[in-house]
Amino acid sequence: MATIRDNSETIPAIGIDLGTTFSVVSKLDRAGKPVTLVNAEGDLLTPSVVLFDGDDVIVGREAWKAVAGEADSVALCTKREMGHPVYHKNFQGKQYPPEVIEAWILNKLRRDMSTQIGPFSKVVVTVPAYFDEVRRKATQDAGYMAGFEVMDILNEPTAAAIAFGYHEGYMNADGRPERPQRILVYDLGGGTFDVTVMEIRGDRYIARATDGDVQLGGYDWDQRLVDLVAEGFIREHYADPREDPLIAGKLWRECEDAKRTLSVRGKAAVACDYRGFSSLVTVTREQFEEATQDLLDRTRFTTVQTLSAARLGWEQIDRVLLVGGSTRMPMVRRMLQELSGKEPDSTVAADEAVAHGAALHAGLLLAKSQGRPATFKIKNVNSHSLGVVGTDPQTKRKRNGILIPRNTPLPVSAKRTFRTQKANQQSILVQVVEGENPSPDDCTTIGRCSVRRLPPDLPRRAPIDVLFQYQTNGRLKVRVTVPDSDVKVETEFTRENALPKEHLDGWRRHISGEGPTEYR
Ligand code: AMP
Repeated sequence: MATIRDNSETIPAIGIDLGTTFSVVSKLDRAGKPVTLVNAEGDLLTPSVVLFDGDDVIVGREAWKAVAGEADSVALCTKREMGHPVYHKNFQGKQYPPEVIEAWILNKLRRDMSTQIGPFSKVVVTVPAYFDEVRRKATQDAGYMAGFEVMDILNEPTAAAIAFGYHEGYMNADGRPERPQRILVYDLGGGTFDVTVMEIRGDRYIARATDGDVQLGGYDWDQRLVDLVAEGFIREHYADPREDPLIAGKLWRECEDAKRTLSVRGKAAVACDYRGFSSLVTVTREQFEEATQDLLDRTRFTTVQTLSAARLGWEQIDRVLLVGGSTRMPMVRRMLQELSGKEPDSTVAADEAVAHGAALHAGLLLAKSQGRPATFKIKNVNSHSLGVVGTDPQTKRKRNGILIPRNTPLPVSAKRTFRTQKANQQSILVQVVEGENPSPDDCTTIGRCSVRRLPPDLPRRAPIDVLFQYQTNGRLKVRVTVPDSDVKVETEFTRENALPKEHLDGWRRHISGEGPTEYR
């Protein structure tokens, strides 16, 4: 089935699914088949959990176990906070940027896997399709600080579609689908939800529309179950176990487990001890589904919207592909079946598909770098509109002037001409935002592009062209030119909340022990 080769004797093709709750690493074997690597504990899935234990930083299963007794020292669901300046909790009096905590997770994966396959640095890391530019940049920085060279970041649903294509034998020239296959990828993980309409056309994987919610995932279902159990406990003992963070951490672990039970059984019992009272609270699947119906409805709404953004009806969708551990909940499958009239497809392994797709993409990039032909191509769309902040001449209010609307095929460029406000102006400042809202306050500021050292003696209202380029992976480049002038303009794109290069290098040395000079 496989036609992608392990690309070199020395450089392995590695893909990493850096998940909100679990992370997975995959490598192409010699036949070009993606396989999941096990971590030092022998597990395929590594909990994306970090424990700050004195001077030690412990990642994975042991950190996950510590949630029950040392919740204050544990960082959970850090991926949800990417793009924020710091993680919401402090550890031993220190607050860390979320990407630094993510770097510790990646570093464990790097260390664990290199004991099996030897040292490696080139990787592809996946991100939710709905991640904005700031979060994408933070993910790339996390990879750098972990000692990696991140060759590319790849959208999770695209990765899942690639894994699916591989599974179906589409990577071989003679195995390609005869007519385009349209797939709706419904990806409900631990902390994020993504839905993407993909089209497989010969060797091309084309995203048609994408949407999602970076604050919705299995974790929210867990919390609802915690509430159900806590309410049962309160009815019996008039005490709320959620008040004590340590008990709440333990309860959450128990409930996450019970949630899995409810995927296969009609009821689950959760033990809870608090203030000398103890109870075994039983929750039925029906109660659980009722308590979480609104969460599921949010995914349903987004799914319907995405299909309409792709200008397609269900009859034009060939498969509904389930990705992410939370799609194991029967309510998800049932809802999608009712909505689409099709049996949802779980042919790709829900937990591993994304990492497998990432490894296939890594193999492709390595092959390309060695001058070998590509076995598939990716076409992506932007998940958020890109705009610049301007002033409405009538209302004098600031507003978001959209330059590149969402769901535009990438790569794409857009040019905007700004004009100097006075003669001999030295600089201009451009604020770049992502989002759909006309008010910039409701959008995400990606950064500011300050154009300094404009050519001297420019008249008032002299044009300055700013070119925005969205790359295929959703990252942005900004270039500035002054028309009719050969004077080069220096551009500085200062990113909101991004760590400066010297901090990244410092963290890289601290976390991975690799200095920038050893950067390969
Ligand atoms: P992922 O990020 O794709 O690894 O998904 C992790 C999420 O899937 C976590 O919230 C898990 O609790 C959830 N999950 C895994 N297995 C099951 C299951 N059998 N039933 C319900 N949820 C599950």
